[in-house]
Amino acid sequence: MAADPKKKYGKKRCKYCEMKVDFIGYKDLDLIKYSLSERYKIMPRRLTGTCKKHQDMVTKAIKRARQVALIPYVVDRHRVIENPFDAIKPLKTK
Ligand SMILES: [Zn+2]
Repeated sequence: MAADPKKKYGKKRCKYCEMKVDFIGYKDLDLIKYSLSERYKIMPRRLTGTCKKHQDMVTKAIKRARQVALIPYVVDRHRVIENPFDAIKPLKTK
């Protein structure tokens, strides 16, 4: 049995609103990662509590990030790792 994802994501509050983010681009991997599962799938809003505005933004950003190969489309089931972003070196944009 997999762990209940609802517990992992805690109370339903929009993380992006709390961090006062007004734009999420495809290079903002440290923002995007809050909405990715361990298989790099986009987490649904009902689990993360992300608001509509930010969910739309992050969805677009994730799809773009996949196109430019910052995050994978699929993960081999033998290579699933607990925290995907330990394995990815994010682009340093600052
Ligand atoms: Zn929000």
